[in-house]
Amino acid sequence: MTTYGNARIQMEKATKLMGLSEEAFDEVLKPENVERVSFKVNMDNGSDQTFEGVRVQHHSGRGPTKGGIRFHPQVDVDEVMALATWMTWKCAVVNIPFGGGKGGVTVNPKLLSKGELERVSKGFMTAIAPVVGPDRDIPAPDVGTTAEIMAWMLDAYNAAVGGNHPGVITGKPIERGGSYGRDDATARGGFYVLNYLAKSLNLLPGASIAIQGFGNAGQHFAELCANAGYKVVAVSDTSGGIYNPKGLDVEKLLKIKQETRMIVDYEDAQKVTNEELLELEVDVLAPAALENQITRDNADKVKAKIVLELANGPTTPEADEILFKKGTVVLPDILANAGGVTVSYFEWVQNQRNERWPLERIHEQLEEKMHKAAQAVYDMGVKHKTHLRTAALMVALERVLAAGRK
Ligand code: GLU
Repeated sequence: MTTYGNARIQMEKATKLMGLSEEAFDEVLKPENVERVSFKVNMDNGSDQTFEGVRVQHHSGRGPTKGGIRFHPQVDVDEVMALATWMTWKCAVVNIPFGGGKGGVTVNPKLLSKGELERVSKGFMTAIAPVVGPDRDIPAPDVGTTAEIMAWMLDAYNAAVGGNHPGVITGKPIERGGSYGRDDATARGGFYVLNYLAKSLNLLPGASIAIQGFGNAGQHFAELCANAGYKVVAVSDTSGGIYNPKGLDVEKLLKIKQETRMIVDYEDAQKVTNEELLELEVDVLAPAALENQITRDNADKVKAKIVLELANGPTTPEADEILFKKGTVVLPDILANAGGVTVSYFEWVQNQRNERWPLERIHEQLEEKMHKAAQAVYDMGVKHKTHLRTAALMVALERVLAAGRK
């Protein structure tokens, strides 16, 4: 099954419960625009290389489309279509006035020099400049892209259309119109959801947490959880994972990452593979890497009580059913990782109004948004006796359908 196919199956469950017709289902699922681009970049060795990229705008009924740009060797149109669709539901779940979009370039950014990375970033933004804009479609970071890349893309957009338009992209560095609190927003949103639902989910203080993936979301989540008294017992990155049931020293781990070393360089822990990490005896498992990690092949072996999806699409629909049946609570991506786009929205509002909000205000407003969203999703799940992904999709669909297509 493709990732977009999974996005479709998830939706089918929600639309069935809502009694939506086949036509209405097809209508809300199809993307408004799939912009495929290819662009040439001058490489350090003097040769020209052509890169393929895509920007998908899924649904703009509730406002301009919004979503990150991914740089990863596995990026393809199918994946970006799924990710754009999920952005529509995500923005609706946290009730921000955006629809869903997503972009990607098929490239391994780790293999590029800094100059090449800058030229790829600018090349892609120049290619999609005609279809994005502060009131139309607003990109942001995603897997493999950073605040610095957002600044390069802003430069490319300004050069393409003239003037200065900081609201065309979010996740920028502070000095280029970025927002305080955007850097850890994805993790913080998930952390707020977990704390808010802790009582209902019987999660005790000092609960153990395993995190798959140690990029932006994984690192900040580990830090927030450790500071709040949770016990982070396992983390992994592309080099593999580490596990110590007594708890890991998160500060030390962050230092290893800052020195651009690998997680497996951490001593005083047992080595585990990325797959083994998913099956550890923990209270909370937070997949924070890529799609399709928990599948029908391993869902049965997941021992966590709660799966908090910081990644987009880490659990397949078949795995969802297996987890639901055995009582594992999945806090779905479109709720659990919506903190990132929520603070992106705050950044965009600040840009459009030429304002700068203090960090406390960002945290307060983010917390309020996440609590409201978590409550709405939880209530919907109880009402329809269904798992929280379907519940979240129902909350989102109600709002998206009420808006209709633009
Ligand atoms: N890429 C992030 C996500 O998947 C953030 C998107 C944004 O800030 O627009 O939610």
